[in-house]
Amino acid sequence: MDKTGKIFVVGIGPGNIEHMTFEARNAIEKSDVIVGYKTYVDLIEDIIRDKEVASTGMKKEKERCEEALKYAEEGNTVSLISSGDAGVYGMAGIILEIVFKSKSSVEVEVVPGITAANAAAASLGAPIMHDYVTISLSDLLTDWSLIEKRLHCAGEGDFVVCLYNPKSKGRQKEIEKAREILLKYKKNDTLVGIVRNAKRKGESCVITTLEDMLKYDIDMFTTIIVGNSHTYMAKGKMITPRGYAL
Ligand code: SAH
Repeated sequence: MDKTGKIFVVGIGPGNIEHMTFEARNAIEKSDVIVGYKTYVDLIEDIIRDKEVASTGMKKEKERCEEALKYAEEGNTVSLISSGDAGVYGMAGIILEIVFKSKSSVEVEVVPGITAANAAAASLGAPIMHDYVTISLSDLLTDWSLIEKRLHCAGEGDFVVCLYNPKSKGRQKEIEKAREILLKYKKNDTLVGIVRNAKRKGESCVITTLEDMLKYDIDMFTTIIVGNSHTYMAKGKMITPRGYAL
């Protein structure tokens, strides 16, 4: 085939089709091949219909990228699927690195999506109205010492902190350690929002405190938003004031 292929790295948002952008949908519809982790590909099966799907299991990010590149090198338009936003702990960085290293001329276009922090924040109210950071508690690719350092900095800076990858079967203690570090800077009654399956089927949403947060179920489908010193709750919503005089 002479046609040059192209890779769209598509952030499909948190899960529900309504939270996907038109651009994400267009990219998928324009594609000949869909590459992605099965759980995410299943979320968009209504759009994919009869397209060729190369979905692979967990922890195969590199293989998925290599596969996407192979299809694109053959002249196909490929959508490489990421949950949330492709550029936030997603597939955008790794595919750009792999294409760059391979010296391939395949074009890569990153299609943004709603990241878990935004989806979870919307379900909680308005907790990230002021400066916030996202910290992934997964130490699979990042040294735990660096994660700890960033938790300290976030605490010291009184940032709202969005925790991704808080807990998995193999990583149970990290969330406890993260809470301990944040408690060095934040008060016990600092509000914490725990959102599981934000903006997808089976969503659950709890507003609690740093003191009590570990009493709730936390897993890999959960995003945790720890407020700053001004965050408060009103009418069941978590609010971090921007500072308007009201
Ligand atoms: N690229 C994704 C993040 C991948 S890291 C994004 O932008 O959202 C995976 C982590 O994201 C999960 O462990 C969880 O902390 C969070 N996450 C992803 N989707 C979520 C959802 N629908 N609800 C709550 N948390 C979610």
